[in-house]
Amino acid sequence: MPTYEYRCPDCADFDLIFEMRSVPDSVDCPTCAGTARRRMSAPRISATGSAAYRLIDSTKRSAHEPTVVNSPGPGQRSGPVQKYTSNPLHKKLPRP
Ligand SMILES: [Zn+2]
Repeated sequence: MPTYEYRCPDCADFDLIFEMRSVPDSVDCPTCAGTARRRMSAPRISATGSAAYRLIDSTKRSAHEPTVVNSPGPGQRSGPVQKYTSNPLHKKLPRP
């Protein structure tokens, strides 16, 4: 459902969510209970759940919350030494 902006003449702007077929032109202000009129604004229709929205969201999040790196730092080694080959004939080759 789209979000609509309302402006109270005495308070700040606020947003409410309505179905498009039942959006009122004026509502009661949640702060002062006065009459707040609907503002004309750009439509903000939610695309939550789409692949594009998830990509945009993860890109924004990675700027502030980078993923945790679990590998050891430079110069540190963990675990067994990695084998480069499993061919037994390679063991006979001269080593540097
Ligand atoms: Zn108000």
